[in-house]
Amino acid sequence: MNLHLLELLPEELAAHLSGLGLPAQEADARRMLAALWLHGSPKAKRPVRREIQEVVLAMDYGRPTVIQRVEDPEDHSLRYLFAAEDGAVFEVVRIPLERPGCFSLCLSSQIGCAMRCAFCATGKLGLSRNLRPSEILGSFLTVRDEAPGRVTGAVFMGQGEPFHNYDAVIRSAKLLCHPCGGRISAENISISTVGMVPAIHRFAEEGHPFRLVISLTSALPQRRASLLPVAMKWSLEELADAVAAYARSCRTRVTIAWVLMGGVNHGEEEVEALKKLLGHVPIRLNLIDVNSTGDFRRTTEEELNGFRDQLQALGVPIVRRYSVGRSQNAACGMLARVFQEHAPAN
Ligand code: SF4
Repeated sequence: MNLHLLELLPEELAAHLSGLGLPAQEADARRMLAALWLHGSPKAKRPVRREIQEVVLAMDYGRPTVIQRVEDPEDHSLRYLFAAEDGAVFEVVRIPLERPGCFSLCLSSQIGCAMRCAFCATGKLGLSRNLRPSEILGSFLTVRDEAPGRVTGAVFMGQGEPFHNYDAVIRSAKLLCHPCGGRISAENISISTVGMVPAIHRFAEEGHPFRLVISLTSALPQRRASLLPVAMKWSLEELADAVAAYARSCRTRVTIAWVLMGGVNHGEEEVEALKKLLGHVPIRLNLIDVNSTGDFRRTTEEELNGFRDQLQALGVPIVRRYSVGRSQNAACGMLARVFQEHAPAN
């Protein structure tokens, strides 16, 4: 596979150039990569030896092509469809934050997804392939450059299970927060997983500064397995051990996501099971409404309030998370490469 500039840390670019017999210093690599991330070209403003600059300018730093942008008229989220070099299509969603002029980007890590969660349109596609860091980061840069304000956060919650493409996602996250890269604060980068247990342990052992979000959604073994087939591979106890290990390593509350489905996973039995499973682990609970893919309905206000009341007994922070982009198939669980008719291509 060819080297792509967007995938390289400065020390790696310097090592590559040295390997070609060029007298490159890490400072040169830093200047060229900073120029690439800031201005779209690795042509450094401050002088770099001509032969080094020429070699770097000849390297690949292309980005995926935008094929469609669709704005949600209600919440002003913007869904981008990108085509990779091989024609594969994936999405990024620009999400306006409460702070005026600030945005977070929801990034895809794969094309399709192998996890087949019952409430998710992406899961119905199956997995086509992993995205390369250059594709993840190229799509990030294009959306960032077009944003009418600052992109201050990134979440790996688009197409794909990020830990199923672990190395590419971690490399991308490192570059997103690098001072010569995306310059996003590491704590504003979130990675979401449905519970790939070995990867959670690895993430904990490696001590990354990014936030991990674990989608639990049910604390009952059979129900969880029917909603998240990944639970057939790793038991809830194994997942709870991994969550506890991560809590010890990050020394902060672990965010547990709970996709709420009306009539399914908001009963007393869930609260009891959750207490048994994670009562000893510092967590915060994010409640997220399911977005319609046809098979599930949202909870009524009464159902939601009843569940929240029961959850109070756990004594953990509970946050209601609202998905943006529902009307344009851009919300959580709705990314399925759906083209919008009559939307502008470019
Ligand atoms: S919810 Fe996430 S992990 Fe599950 S199928 Fe959808 S994209 Fe994949």
